[in-house]
Amino acid sequence: MNNNEYKAVFKCISGCNVEYPLDKVVYECEKCGSLLEVSHDMDRLKKKSPKEWKALFESRTAATSWPYGSGVWGKKEWVCPEVDNDNVVSMFEGNTNLFWARRLGEYLGVQDLWVKMCGNSHTGSFKDLGMTVLVSVVNEMIKKGRDIKAVACASTGDTSAALAAYCAYAGIPSIVFLPSNKISTAQLVQPMANGSIVLSLDTNFDGCMKIVKEITKDNKIYLANSMNSLRVEGQKSISVEIVQQFDWEVPDVIIIPGGNLGNVSALGNGFKMMKELGLIDKTPRIVLAQAEKANPLYLSYQTGFKKFNPIQPEKTLASAIQIGDPVSVQKAIRALNEFDGIVEQASEDELANAAALGDLTGLYSCPHTGVALAALIKLIEQKKIKKKDRVIVISTAHGLKFSEFKIGYHESALNGVNSKFANRPIETEPDINKIWEILDREFAGRKKAL
Ligand SMILES: *Cc1c(COP(=O)(O)O)cnc(C)c1O
Ligand SMILES: [Zn+2]
Repeated sequence: MNNNEYKAVFKCISGCNVEYPLDKVVYECEKCGSLLEVSHDMDRLKKKSPKEWKALFESRTAATSWPYGSGVWGKKEWVCPEVDNDNVVSMFEGNTNLFWARRLGEYLGVQDLWVKMCGNSHTGSFKDLGMTVLVSVVNEMIKKGRDIKAVACASTGDTSAALAAYCAYAGIPSIVFLPSNKISTAQLVQPMANGSIVLSLDTNFDGCMKIVKEITKDNKIYLANSMNSLRVEGQKSISVEIVQQFDWEVPDVIIIPGGNLGNVSALGNGFKMMKELGLIDKTPRIVLAQAEKANPLYLSYQTGFKKFNPIQPEKTLASAIQIGDPVSVQKAIRALNEFDGIVEQASEDELANAAALGDLTGLYSCPHTGVALAALIKLIEQKKIKKKDRVIVISTAHGLKFSEFKIGYHESALNGVNSKFANRPIETEPDINKIWEILDREFAGRKKAL
């Protein structure tokens, strides 16, 4: 079954009067060069009542009927209605759990703290949510006989992993451009394993982005970066999922780490759509968290977003957001203006210790989630987040992808980080008396962690 009664097209975010079909190979407005966004026929969507939409989404959650068991395709009518179900490339991504951070919240002084575990997904990051939409559209174009040789992206590690996996699933060639020595070992191995053409470039992410834009000017290679708004459209499902998980109650504050700034605009779009279609009647405050070493939006926020200047980012542990010239900055500023936005930043020391603190309550956070947790701590201190607020921290990737970061922390070997919660293994002989000695010492010496 297809939902062809619903329609969506690309439109210019700067308001030029242009429209392109979603299967046209186009990433920017041909009049003014601004980014595009997917625009839905809201009048048709309004024909279903809020109650009907909620019931439909709920009926598909955790079901297997293709492709609606996916957290993204369960909202197909709102995301990418016209693609044929047979051409959808999905791994039933999304529908990730909410981690109730009870002990962490208690420690920090907030009563209702949750972490949305977007890294509990096929390739270990939220990038799966957007990539399933993009690769499905490309798959349909190829099935219809379009001459597309490969899909390409520049990446700080997670986009490439997702692109490689979804392309491998569909049997479509992929090319990934990575900044050498700036991503984790796991992130490098993922596209290698999935058979991508992996190009490791002696530059940073922004340098890789320039190359991929050049390469994809040849329309036979399709661009998979988030300037392609099909990605943002899939990521929008996070907002609907969160609200559905709370029985359609809207949280007070959502904190999300940002680099290229597509995901924060996706989050905003999801809430806007739910409001416009009457599923919710209020919206949350959105906090965007950046690493101090790659903080162009934080600097812009200090000017009330009057100015924005790209920067040369410095090396940060939060490698997936080490971006100085974010592609989606305009969309992000618009979203933050609409959602009473705050931009906060975190130093290396703050992000690493915040991640480690969360781990002591059962999380296993990547450095980017550490950035968001550090922002949470600061906003509680500044009293911008109140004790009773329901707060959601978006965890963007799985900590298991960042073993170098985790090990380095516990070995107190990270630059600029004082590892307050380091926990080293104790080397000893397999001798029961010695072991009792150690345990007695540890019981006496260790205060209850939190
Ligand atoms: C991509 C990514 C981000 C940043 O998302 P943007 O849309 O680029 O702002 C944050 N964390 C992780 C783990 C990522 O992979
Ligand atoms: Zn335009």
